Amino acid sequence: MNIHEYQAKGLLRDYGVPVSAGRVVLRAEDAKTAAGEMDGPLWVVKAQIHAGGRGKGHFKEPEAGEKGGVRLARSVEEAAEFARQMLGRTLVTIQTGEQGKQVNRIYIEDGSDIDREFYLALLIDRVTSRISIVSSTEGGMSIEDVAHDTPEKILTFSIDPATGFQDFHGRRVAFGLGLQGNQIKQCVGIVRNLYKLFVEKDMDMLEINPFCVLKDGSLKLLDAKMGFDSNALYRHADILALKDETEEDPKELAAQKFDLNYVALDGEIGCMVNGAGLAMATMDIIKLYGAEPANFLDVGGGATKEKVTEAFKIITSDPNVKGILVNIFGGIMRCDIIAEGVLAAVKEVGLKVPLVVRLEGTNVELGKDIIRNSGLNVIAADNLSDAAQKIVKAVKG
Ligand code: ADP
Ligand code: MG
Repeated sequence: MNIHEYQAKGLLRDYGVPVSAGRVVLRAEDAKTAAGEMDGPLWVVKAQIHAGGRGKGHFKEPEAGEKGGVRLARSVEEAAEFARQMLGRTLVTIQTGEQGKQVNRIYIEDGSDIDREFYLALLIDRVTSRISIVSSTEGGMSIEDVAHDTPEKILTFSIDPATGFQDFHGRRVAFGLGLQGNQIKQCVGIVRNLYKLFVEKDMDMLEINPFCVLKDGSLKLLDAKMGFDSNALYRHADILALKDETEEDPKELAAQKFDLNYVALDGEIGCMVNGAGLAMATMDIIKLYGAEPANFLDVGGGATKEKVTEAFKIITSDPNVKGILVNIFGGIMRCDIIAEGVLAAVKEVGLKVPLVVRLEGTNVELGKDIIRNSGLNVIAADNLSDAAQKIVKAVKG
């Protein structure tokens, strides 16, 4: 789960990490009051969406201005005007895709006098199973180019969980960034607190870009992106409360409500499968036969009629879906029960695209008979590759 920049900065503030003062604005008419509560002389007006690259982004509507989702204002009036222009508009950045994201919240913060912009991130490194710290002197809005063109300018190391954070980790970052004197001590404190925050809140990603040296020599974090491990959210009610449902895929939200593991993808074949491993194998074999999966969907071990129906609704609500493949192994759940569930779902939701059903396991013959005799336009399949070939053929001809 991701959160907005202003929410991330709230957490950073709680952990004693230096960020600017700011106000969040949800309605254009509140922008002037919010900006007026801050001293100036520089206000930064920042579109809040769950995507980076806002500074270099552009709005779909020309009346939102041409300068992107992060703008510097020299007066309260100008700040309020920028906020008004951005609210409700669609911001397109390198991370949103062409469709962009609607801006429903604005963060107005104190402008800083920046001397240098660095990059700093904490991530889970799956190779070492440790938290890694990534830093670079080349921070700011082109970090993707740095990673691509001059990867040697990026310093990465991981922290042994047995010792946890030690001051030398922080010094390593500080020296890599070329910090001097008191800045080194300040940097060690910041990295220590970021590590603590990361661990205590079960984050899987924390990215600070830019991490700045200001003209007065002090350090400040001017942008923050945070991701949290959704499997640990049950023990972080405070983080869960920060969830902005308007930022989530509505299909994924519906799936969460019914305890379905669903991830939307870009292909044309909707998949309904039980078990994550079987779901992965099903996606692989669809690709093998020349098509692309529209989603990952694991209905879980207890695939009840209700769950199957909800899964169908979610799959068919995706306009990209040109065919559906149901691939269920009836172990604990019997195949005849699953077949009835699938048919009930088809009757309730309706079916406008070809549907292939492959069942295996307990009472499989009975299940197949139920499908064959249903009178519905459902194609029965004998095994996984047969099922994949049939659905690809039905979709691609
Ligand atoms: P994004 O990464 O989505 O483009 P950022 O928050 O990093 O958005 O802002 C883009 C750039 O705007 C930063 O690299 C920085 O140069 C500038 N900026 C952001 N916040 C401030 C601020 N409070 N004061 C001065 N400049 C800022
Ligand atoms: Mg940034």
